[in-house]
Amino acid sequence: MNKVHIVKCQEYDLDKVQQAVAECFDAMPEFKEKLFEGAKVLVKTNLLMRKNPEDAVTTHPSVIEAIVRYLQALGCKPVIGDSPGGPYNEWNLKGVYKAAGMNAVAEKTGCELNYDTSVIEVHNEKAKLLKNMQIIKVAHDVDFIISAAKLKTHGMMTYTGAVKNLFGVIPGITKAEYHFKMNNTANFAEHLVDICEYVNPVISIIDAIDCMEGDGPSAGMKKHVGLLMASSSPYALDVAASKVAGINTELIPTIVAAEKRGLINSNYKNLEFSGIDLDEIKVEPFILPSSININFVGGRVPKFLESFITNTFRPQPIFDHDKCVGCEDCKRSCPPDIIKMVNGKPVPDLDKCIRCFCCHELCPIKAVDIKKHWLHERLFR
Ligand code: SF4
Ligand code: SF4
Repeated sequence: MNKVHIVKCQEYDLDKVQQAVAECFDAMPEFKEKLFEGAKVLVKTNLLMRKNPEDAVTTHPSVIEAIVRYLQALGCKPVIGDSPGGPYNEWNLKGVYKAAGMNAVAEKTGCELNYDTSVIEVHNEKAKLLKNMQIIKVAHDVDFIISAAKLKTHGMMTYTGAVKNLFGVIPGITKAEYHFKMNNTANFAEHLVDICEYVNPVISIIDAIDCMEGDGPSAGMKKHVGLLMASSSPYALDVAASKVAGINTELIPTIVAAEKRGLINSNYKNLEFSGIDLDEIKVEPFILPSSININFVGGRVPKFLESFITNTFRPQPIFDHDKCVGCEDCKRSCPPDIIKMVNGKPVPDLDKCIRCFCCHELCPIKAVDIKKHWLHERLFR
């Protein structure tokens, strides 16, 4: 039985967060037993892009500091790291660390911030789709990895938590390559599970104090939930967190893929909870991303018609040229490279768009919106 520990924590006050993190980790004695004096531990933080902690896009620095201090007290050597959106280089890492408050954590605790931008190819025979993958070298070199995620909605994957956070071990622009190779949501989810199985985090923790709903993971609305949750199983943690967020697990492709492989049972009643009981948590269901394309014709019309209707109704990215500052981040992050800059503004070839919404995710000023088909709006508003 997979165990999930949930603690109330209403604010990012360091003392309170430290208490909550310690309670979560102490509830998983098998995690502590694996660690050893001097072990190097990558605290894989969600550092998607240059955002301040208050934006609720990145894992909050108080949570990371609490994890770091806990590990240091056990004699471990934590290193904070991620490969955020954009190129995996020192310049980009510096900007992201600074904005997300990671420099301050390193200064206060003396822990390492990863600046090694080398990459290594690894092999996982048991993987379903991604037997060979490029990962950031630090993820290979450390003894253990902790997935320190943020609870948010996600344009392509509906939800991002412990499993999706590990996509950040894939270096910079290789992410776009994998997006392109795994050309649909189901394949993309399978490859995320492959990555998660390879990384095999020793423990996963979700910062669910301030979360994001709507058009996450970067352009949604902040939502206060006031929880920290942890588990030795990233899949169990995601099932529990999706229950907290009121998101049906059938809409979360990583949970569907993990369940098919027998890695988790999505019925949260099969999980063992400690700390607060899930039924005691009263949170208004999260607003889902506009990109969610619920297949309302599945099984009701012939297959060829189903695929035509589904494609016609697919939401699409819309670029607001008045807001756009022409930074080209969307162009650089577009997996099929279908965005051209015309007079300094992005113009996508939507016939070739794979609806990954990386452009929406990585636009620093929310100039990319997600537009549903007008008929979908009429029928399902
Ligand atoms: S235009 Fe946007 S949604 Fe379409 S493929 Fe490129 S990045 Fe993905
Ligand atoms: S849409 Fe956003 S990411 Fe793309 S060029 Fe404009 S400001 Fe940059």
